[in-house]
Amino acid sequence: MALKLFNTLSRSAQEFVPLDPAGKRVGLYCCGPTVYDFAHIGNWRTFIFGDLVRRYLEFKGFSVLHVMNITDVDDKIIKKVRESNLPLREFTGTFESAFFDDLKALNCLLPHQTPRATEHIPEIVSLIEKLLARGLAYKTPDGSAYFSIEKYRGSGSQYGQLVKLNFDEMRVGERVRTDEYAKEAVADFALWKARVPEDGQVFWPSPWGPGRPGWHIECSAMSMALLGPSFDLHLGGEDLMFPHHEDEIAQSEGAALQPQGQRFVKYWLHGAHLLVEGKKMSKSLGNFFTLRDLLAKGFTGREIRYLLLTARYRETFNFTLEGLQGAHTALLRLDDCLKKLRELAGDTIATDHPALLNQFSDSLDDDLNIAGAWGAIFDWVRETNKKLAENALDASNAAAALAAWEKLDSVLGVGSPPEVAVPPDIATLLEARQAARKAKDFKRADAIRDELKAKGWTIEDTPKGARVKRL
Ligand code: AMP
Ligand code: ZN
Repeated sequence: MALKLFNTLSRSAQEFVPLDPAGKRVGLYCCGPTVYDFAHIGNWRTFIFGDLVRRYLEFKGFSVLHVMNITDVDDKIIKKVRESNLPLREFTGTFESAFFDDLKALNCLLPHQTPRATEHIPEIVSLIEKLLARGLAYKTPDGSAYFSIEKYRGSGSQYGQLVKLNFDEMRVGERVRTDEYAKEAVADFALWKARVPEDGQVFWPSPWGPGRPGWHIECSAMSMALLGPSFDLHLGGEDLMFPHHEDEIAQSEGAALQPQGQRFVKYWLHGAHLLVEGKKMSKSLGNFFTLRDLLAKGFTGREIRYLLLTARYRETFNFTLEGLQGAHTALLRLDDCLKKLRELAGDTIATDHPALLNQFSDSLDDDLNIAGAWGAIFDWVRETNKKLAENALDASNAAAALAAWEKLDSVLGVGSPPEVAVPPDIATLLEARQAARKAKDFKRADAIRDELKAKGWTIEDTPKGARVKRL
């Protein structure tokens, strides 16, 4: 089956056909973090969605160039730099390294390129110069540069491709300097913001005076610099449709660098927002979690990744701590089944297991219907457990099942559980329980079982003897 993706540009699910005539190479750009704080769990839903898209394209045999920018200068950062009294790089460096640590903890593949906006100022300046030369941008007396929506529309281009905009209320030439604004505030937006005293030391020279880039132009310049003026996929959370992505289209296509008949981006994908305990995440509601908040509560990156990957990207997902407990249990079920399969398979060489793989890719081909894919996986776990209990599987069946799982996991990235070392006191209790059973003191053996349970361990009696497992 062919992969279909919901393209915000056409508002429909479309077959994915890369621009590469050979049908092999794919350019993927995902708007990355603004490094003014630790990324929260909502941001992580979006970044994991980007990781899923890349992994699934690779599973399908495409060769993906994955770019994720680091926004290391924007309004929010400047404000925080001012408050912290730190140099820009020192301030953003903390959150940038935290971002890469979190990326690893969540087992996201490192994007091939992670460009910083501050290291692409020449590309940004040159893009603004092109827009000025084409008459789509203008300078203001303070030394800023703005994009003219009127001129852009006058040149026959459409502003409002990803979202519907109402131009009746629009006052021509009105300007907005801030990086983020509402749909109702549609106005000429800043490409270059002239230096003001509040910017402190955060400024760069430009042909029209010192200043700093607007947020939107950063992504246009970096994506085109690394993926070319026309590329396949651009991703982000739904809040980025307007103004960020709309402005990216206007700037990038306004500069007219694309080959005849090609768009800046062929497929725009937007992930729905994450709610926490049914509400928008906010510090005042006490439902605001960074990854490290959750790790500090004892959850693992693997459990968090799994939970964030249970819902399809276009559906709003309600994140709860209870759900995270459920993720722990679901993974235990999966791990348990895989462990039994490994014991049975031993060193047997695997053959293929097409049924599970086909069910998996049929679901993901349908606009990344991952909930459907998990459904197929857990049906398979149930079936496998049943067959294992009936001794109806042999080593080669088990090896084939494991080979299929490895392929699926190259997309899911939930991997194997980290090996948990058995603490000495638990090992001693297990030995004591075995000794009690041998002596037929079942009362004592049961009491030890209960004691282990109270400490968070359960006993499994296997053909190879008894062992303990974390509850
Ligand atoms: P930012 O660092 O604010 O630029 O956001 C990084 C990414 O996270 C963007 O793609 C946002 O759309 C996305 N994002 C922000 N809040 C949420 C949320 N609550 N749920 C899902 N994605 C979000
Ligand atoms: Zn962006």
